[in-house]
Amino acid sequence: MVTYVYDFSEGGKDQKDLLGGKGANLAEMTNLGLPVPPGFTITTEACRQFLRTDDTPPELTEQVTKHLDLLESTMGKRLGAADDPLLVSVRSGAAASMPGMMETVLNVGLNDQSVRGLAAQADDPRFAWDSYRRLLSMFGRTVLGVEGFEEVLQEIAAGRPDTALEAADWQQVVDAFQQLIREATGRDFPQDPREQLDLAVRAVFESWNTDRATLYRRQERIPDDLGTAVNVCSMVFGNLGADSGTGVAFTRDPASGASGIYGDYLQNAQGEDVVAGTRNTVPLAELERIDKTSYDELVSIMSRLESHYRDLCDIEFTIERGTLWMLQTRVGKRTPGAAFRIASQLVDEGLIDLDEAVRRVKGEQLAQLMFPQFAPGTDLRLLAVGMSASPGAAVGAAAFTSEEAMARAEAGEDVILVRRETTPDDLHGMVAARGILTARGGKTSHAAVVARGMGRTCVCGADALDVDVRAGLFRTADGTVVTEGDVISIDGSTGEVFLGAVPVEHSPVMRYLEGEDARDELVDAVARLVDHADSTRRLRVRANADNAEDAARARRFGAEGIGLCRTEHMFLGERRELVESLILADTTEARQSALAALLPLQRADFEAIFAAMDGCPVTIRLLDPPLHEFLPGLTELSMRVAVADAAGKAARRDVKMLEAVKRMHEQNPMLGLRGVRLGIAIPGLFTMQARAIFEAAAAHTSAGGDPRPEIMVPLVAAVQELELVKDDIQKVAEAVQRETGAPLDFKVGTMIELPRAALTADAIAEVAEFFSFGTNDLTQMTWGFSRDDVEASFFPLYLDKGVFGTSPFESLDRQGVGALVRTATEKGLAARPGLHLGVCGEHGGDPDSVHFFHELGLDYVSCSPFRIPVARLEAGRAALMDPAISGPT
Ligand code: PEP
Ligand code: MG
Repeated sequence: MVTYVYDFSEGGKDQKDLLGGKGANLAEMTNLGLPVPPGFTITTEACRQFLRTDDTPPELTEQVTKHLDLLESTMGKRLGAADDPLLVSVRSGAAASMPGMMETVLNVGLNDQSVRGLAAQADDPRFAWDSYRRLLSMFGRTVLGVEGFEEVLQEIAAGRPDTALEAADWQQVVDAFQQLIREATGRDFPQDPREQLDLAVRAVFESWNTDRATLYRRQERIPDDLGTAVNVCSMVFGNLGADSGTGVAFTRDPASGASGIYGDYLQNAQGEDVVAGTRNTVPLAELERIDKTSYDELVSIMSRLESHYRDLCDIEFTIERGTLWMLQTRVGKRTPGAAFRIASQLVDEGLIDLDEAVRRVKGEQLAQLMFPQFAPGTDLRLLAVGMSASPGAAVGAAAFTSEEAMARAEAGEDVILVRRETTPDDLHGMVAARGILTARGGKTSHAAVVARGMGRTCVCGADALDVDVRAGLFRTADGTVVTEGDVISIDGSTGEVFLGAVPVEHSPVMRYLEGEDARDELVDAVARLVDHADSTRRLRVRANADNAEDAARARRFGAEGIGLCRTEHMFLGERRELVESLILADTTEARQSALAALLPLQRADFEAIFAAMDGCPVTIRLLDPPLHEFLPGLTELSMRVAVADAAGKAARRDVKMLEAVKRMHEQNPMLGLRGVRLGIAIPGLFTMQARAIFEAAAAHTSAGGDPRPEIMVPLVAAVQELELVKDDIQKVAEAVQRETGAPLDFKVGTMIELPRAALTADAIAEVAEFFSFGTNDLTQMTWGFSRDDVEASFFPLYLDKGVFGTSPFESLDRQGVGALVRTATEKGLAARPGLHLGVCGEHGGDPDSVHFFHELGLDYVSCSPFRIPVARLEAGRAALMDPAISGPT
């Protein structure tokens, strides 16, 4: 029989897939002997069964009964008993953290009788009725889908704060809530405690598929079929008076990584009050004053947890009448800077080794640390200071609702979403915004947690701001009013909020990468971990660079060569006219003279690049784009000729050019005369480029340098194409060698960017000395997606509908495009053992794709200079996570 239910004492932290993160960690804490309220976990497998069959598995009821019996005997109380009820919380808990995305129902077990029993036991009727109304609203909303509780409460409260409501008021609220449920659903709130429990469990399962949970998973790339576990935990109460309370804590600062005790505490409150950020909390340190015994116990548990998990832990706890209870712990989310600092600190503290430290930081985090920051010393108008919830510098127009943020972002505007506090319903707006600013809530509020997860800049709890969402404005302490559309700047590292657009500058990590002496603790941590990644990675990292300046920067960033030098950029600007002459040439002489004029210019380009990349391989791609890209547009030219014609002075060159543009017009230029086809169709073009490369190499060698050219032929579909071109290149090489006397060391290879090339890679490898996967075109050609059009047109819809979780142009589609890369790799290596293999599409700098290329055993990835540090780190991580290299992790 499948076990669907585990007692907290039966599991452990490594069982996240089955028990969810929360359940696995509750089990771990229980087994560490920490004070966890007893309970049990219903597995993710039960949820998956539910999602598959739309019903709970038949064995579940019986297993829940068994564990409930056990819980009741441990607690010495029965669920919902009239005189002294056991109450439980029912909480979701997936394997990957999805803060606030799914449902929780507290106080399950209360009904019209047991509420009185609770009142008597606690000697506090106000508390009992307050607890009952919380159950009614949570259960009503989550399980029964009823809305409107907040409005009913507001009506009864008539302007009084919650704390001013007495037992009788809450009893009145309970009656009104029950009435609301009756009217909305046509039935009474279920009085049977077990029915409440079963329905709440079902609702948690169902909450896996709410829109906001689905969107969050897509954002975070969490697979849709994992399901959530459900934790049923005996209730402890933080709202039993001043000697009770609830809080969240971090063992280190999740924003800066500094060690210490960080967190928020809220006296006389229940868990959700803190996370929702609706009441202002006090810093955790205050707890020492409020309840020293509990504080000391908490601090000692926190240090125990940190050494046990060997990482920053975040914690939720409740104090019930002076007794501390641990409600949750997990390895906490953190800002990118904190991730590097903490990993490095833990190495120094002897808790982890450098391999583990590198596994714990991500390329995307490093990319964020390379983002620009606000320039200091600018004349800034500070509006408020909130908490530094998620780093970065964001500038944009204030938008006060999710809808407004999305609309402005869609219209191309940068937006800062400003809210009193965020709720899961704000997710769309948060995705659309550059940054998020809230007036309420601590570092663990919804806004802060979600923004950190998404890598959005966020300042939260700027409580000097009076946000009026309805009026679309906020007021600052000095009376300044900022309305919808006004530009503001927020600094997620300092918590500062400024009026207007603040100029931004390079970050310290960027300055360090650029070679400046900008060491600080963060830079040291980054340098240490990236250097270690370098020492473990198997993949080499090259740059896509088209000029000496980019090549030099790439080298500073750690590139070990150029994997793609696109030559088309060398044909722009003033040289365009020469290209036009080449296209317009109608005699061999005219063509040759145009090419001869281009030759020295190209040679100088390559000489500069060889110098910048001395001693490193430089892969130069022969001209790829359709030639008409170098000519004026048809409309513009037609106008010019027509106007000149009317005046009787149309230039001959323009008329000829118009003819050429018309002749060369293509319906689908991406599938037309480009790449190797161009080289074959325009005699002398590729050989001129080859000559420029060889002459530059010869000159660099004569000057004592070490050029390593690799000539790359684009868009090859058939080996015959490559043969034709390679023969010509060989002849040029021999000629240049004869003329200069300098020895030439070079390779000729091809891009694999068409499915046919991948499928016939064995034949192509007979001729090609290397392959470089052009995964941009390979993706375009495999999916049949025009890369210039689709991302702006229907991709948002595809992402929304879940056709894929990330654009295949961003992260390699392993199943489809990846299969072609794998096939070509295998076939290529079979035909030519030792064939050199690289990637030069955008995917070369994408973390997930880098891991895939490592797994395939490619030799290098090539990416834009700014992605090089990311690729170095990820290549190291890929090696460290590869069981074949480093053993299981
Ligand atoms: C590719 O297709 O992946 C590639 C690198 O070439 P381009 O993007 O220039 O077409
Ligand atoms: Mg291409």
